[in-house]
Amino acid sequence: MVRGFVRVSAALLAVALLSGTSHVQPKPGEPLANRLFGAIKTPSHQRPQVIGFYSRGCLAGARQLPETGPTWQAMRLSRNRNWGHPSLIAFIERLSQKARDLGWKGLYIGDMSQPRGGPMTSGHASHQVGLDVDIWMLPPKRLDLSRAARERISSISVRTRDQKHINRNWTPTHMQILKAAAEDPSVERIFVAAAIKIEMCKRAGRDRRWLRKIRPLYGHNTHFHVRLRCPKGSPHCRRQTPVSRISRGDGCDKTLTWWVTDYLKPPKHKAKKKSPPKVHPRRAREMIMADLPRQCEGVLHAK
Ligand SMILES: [Zn+2]
Repeated sequence: MVRGFVRVSAALLAVALLSGTSHVQPKPGEPLANRLFGAIKTPSHQRPQVIGFYSRGCLAGARQLPETGPTWQAMRLSRNRNWGHPSLIAFIERLSQKARDLGWKGLYIGDMSQPRGGPMTSGHASHQVGLDVDIWMLPPKRLDLSRAARERISSISVRTRDQKHINRNWTPTHMQILKAAAEDPSVERIFVAAAIKIEMCKRAGRDRRWLRKIRPLYGHNTHFHVRLRCPKGSPHCRRQTPVSRISRGDGCDKTLTWWVTDYLKPPKHKAKKKSPPKVHPRRAREMIMADLPRQCEGVLHAK
């Protein structure tokens, strides 16, 4: 009995340490954090501050990206996800100006965060703290799209269906814009489909240090995802392990080609081993308020 208890406690402790979660069980009828955050249409009247981690946190004093700017348009306005920390708004202004300089009309901006950040009711494990933005691969033809058109039109894929190569939609300007984004000092990392990074590895010349910030991930063939570093003045922002510590060089190695070889193979059916039931850390859509940093309670209830 006691031994069993010790074992279970040790297992729970190990899980708590690994995942950094509180593992408070939801009370019956307790609302999910994504419902609570998803229901609020306005930002908090607080000093802008990032709280927690990209996939477990919230955002105080968010700023709204103007729906249309000189070099961008925010898409899918009905989602109300064009909110971010001021550093993200400034970055989007900067990068879209760069895109203009490089020959595009500007950028179409997809999801950022909700007005107070937090987990979302659909899509995205991250995008919770106002430092993540999805940018469409579709080069804008115009920057005066109506709200209705912004719901209707979709981005394009720059990758083949078999996921191994870029397709004809990919252009050298895509690469230049991604490079400009990676060279921005406020950028922590950028997620793209592996086929895109493989192409960039081939085309980059001698100057390749910026490539390490470009990280391969499933999806990310119709948009690229830019993640900024923790900004100054946000002591509760939890930083991600810097890419320089994970990857020494440019990341154009076996770990990259794995995504277009082993990753794409159909899963092998193994005989099921009996293993103890796993305690999973709750996923973004299952989180309750106790899973988030305690300051998020204040953000949720602030005026
Ligand atoms: Zn994203």
